[in-house]
Amino acid sequence: RLYNEVQDLKGNIRVYCRIRPFLPGQSKKLTTVEYIGENGELVIINPAKQGKDNRRLFKFNKVFGPTCSQEDVFLDTQPLIRSVLDGYNVCIFAYGQTGSGKTYTMSGPDVSLRTEWGVNYRALNDLFEISQSRKGSISYEIGVQMVEIYNEQVRDLLSTSGLPKRLGIWNTTQPNGLAVPDAGMHPVRSTGDVLDLMKIGLTNRAVGATALNERSSRSHSVLTIHVRGVDLETDAILRGSLHLIDLAGSERVDRSEATGDRLKEAQHINKSLSALGDVIFALAQKTPHIPYRNSKLTQVLQSSLGGQAKTLMFVQINPDVDSYSETISTLKFAERVS
Ligand code: ADP
Ligand code: MG
Repeated sequence: RLYNEVQDLKGNIRVYCRIRPFLPGQSKKLTTVEYIGENGELVIINPAKQGKDNRRLFKFNKVFGPTCSQEDVFLDTQPLIRSVLDGYNVCIFAYGQTGSGKTYTMSGPDVSLRTEWGVNYRALNDLFEISQSRKGSISYEIGVQMVEIYNEQVRDLLSTSGLPKRLGIWNTTQPNGLAVPDAGMHPVRSTGDVLDLMKIGLTNRAVGATALNERSSRSHSVLTIHVRGVDLETDAILRGSLHLIDLAGSERVDRSEATGDRLKEAQHINKSLSALGDVIFALAQKTPHIPYRNSKLTQVLQSSLGGQAKTLMFVQINPDVDSYSETISTLKFAERVS
């Protein structure tokens, strides 16, 4: 049933594009989005340039326009999430420049507004509901880890004992082995448990940062949901995992302007995002060597990228004409992996 739903989706890698609306006060801005097709077509125009070659067509599995709701987006994500309860490993990424809506898609603008919840809270809610409904046949346990990767260092975002410490990555050969075993694993039984944990995560993400937004736009946050199910009739055990990744901003940093820490950060981000692109590209091409070792991000996700695992990338777009060149470079990244 659920299993078939997932198998029906073609391939193991899919790419959804999401275009955020103009924000209040931005209504007079020019848009680069000329056309959104039913079947994942997107035409981008450079309104500042005249002539024939100012348009480009891109193709995705799906494009969500500015009026699409969090619920619309979740409906097309749900089958993947449910497959975790059948033993799949799933990775869901949000990629795009700072301000393009990555955090909005993955978490939402405000945790206290249920209707605005992003993929992560909806996913957990859904996993709890379905595991409840299967209670008579399968007994599920759900645990959560959350780490941040900043300047190629991994930290536990759910640590409650002061400044999060640097963690090592294990080269897991076992299916579903923990890639970051020293990051706290927190059992969760309800959405309330999850909301409490997220508060800790958000507080820790701000530690050492000049401003919350600054730091969060330069680090990757990885929320991992581990599921273990026991079939009550046969005692067979199944494991699945869901990684929800809010990536660092993909914007290019002007080398002539950035110096010191800012330049170092930019180089780390650049390196890890291209390593991610290379891994997904290699998987899509089915090349025998997958270059996982080139970044901490791809090492952490190694056991959940490739094989039977399912990958979904949200490519986030800010429609503002001022973002035109970042939009094109974001879409080119996506074009390569889709
Ligand atoms: P990022 O995480 O990529 O830096 P954010 O998710 O913080 O971007 O989004 C930037 C701003 O745009 C925020 O104020 C956010 O609430 C708003 N926003 C993003 N996407 C949407 C959307 N689909 N609908 C309404 N507002 C959005
Ligand atoms: Mg963000």
